[in-house]
Amino acid sequence: MTFAEKLIEWHKKHGRHDLPWQGTRDPYAIWVSEIMLQQTQVATVVPYYNRFMARFADIPSLASASEDEVLAHWAGLGYYARGRNLHRAARQIMELHAGIFPRDLDLVNALPGIGRSTAAAIAVFAYGTRAPILDGNVKRVLSRVFAVEGWPGIRDIESRLWKLAASLLPGENVEAYTQAQMDLGATVCMRTRPDCKRCPLAPDCIARRENRTGELPTARPRRMLPQRSTTLLLLRHGQNVLLEKRPSTGIWGGLWSLPETSADPESACLQLTGHSPESMQRLPALTHVFTHFKLDIKPVLIAVGGTDIVAREPVKVWMGIDEAARAAIPKPVRTILESLC
Ligand code: SF4
Repeated sequence: MTFAEKLIEWHKKHGRHDLPWQGTRDPYAIWVSEIMLQQTQVATVVPYYNRFMARFADIPSLASASEDEVLAHWAGLGYYARGRNLHRAARQIMELHAGIFPRDLDLVNALPGIGRSTAAAIAVFAYGTRAPILDGNVKRVLSRVFAVEGWPGIRDIESRLWKLAASLLPGENVEAYTQAQMDLGATVCMRTRPDCKRCPLAPDCIARRENRTGELPTARPRRMLPQRSTTLLLLRHGQNVLLEKRPSTGIWGGLWSLPETSADPESACLQLTGHSPESMQRLPALTHVFTHFKLDIKPVLIAVGGTDIVAREPVKVWMGIDEAARAAIPKPVRTILESLC
């Protein structure tokens, strides 16, 4: 049996067949699922997917929604750039493609937030296009089975893997093959402790044979990330906290966050609320790692009194603590808010 045949056979018995985005040829529904599944496990995605599709059933309804509402439906899934790009892409489809999801792989690939592998996955599941995918799961399986050395983030290594993926593509049954690759990577050939005993590729797998599953795929080279630091103000007035909307570009773009300050917290409080702090307490610092730097966050909890507390700008609002924790906020801000609950 070929590589593809083994996977397809395995998938019949052991693959996932009843996920909410399976059994449809609607490219929009498949696209939403593929974006949500990036960096997120199936079990986490399912309830978000169902809620998202209930509210934004098609491209026009997503395109006509506000970014705020889209991000609120993304709240808790993390990696908000995915939600922002999905929204931008829906608007582009309305403008450039008359609201119809394009079929051409290059046009799909040109939409915000859709890389080559995601474009291929959508085309495979929606149109039965014969195209290889190369997501993180597939990179891991191929690197192990064929002992491809080198970090897959390096262009040459990635292009080797693309060639390998294209050469293994079966002539038919591409949908089952593609789903099988995804499922094997997610449920058997996991990043740590792959379950080789249950793997249909075990007899061919070099990494298993040579006991090198811990070394392959080669890890990203370690590098020191530059460090930055910031102070976030947790301004509390009774059961409300002050949130501000981040600019749409830059870190946490378009999300609600705690006001950030480089001034001393006391004068920042006065400036933001018109009141001096009633009390102030430094909370434990936390570190958030972005791709290009580490951010040390120093939260300061400030109680604000008075009855005439107003948010001084339209992009700032007082919000109930519970509601704030459910809003589209960055993960470290959620952690800080949860410390209040
Ligand atoms: S044999 Fe093990 S390491 Fe190789 S592909 Fe299967 S699960 Fe992954």
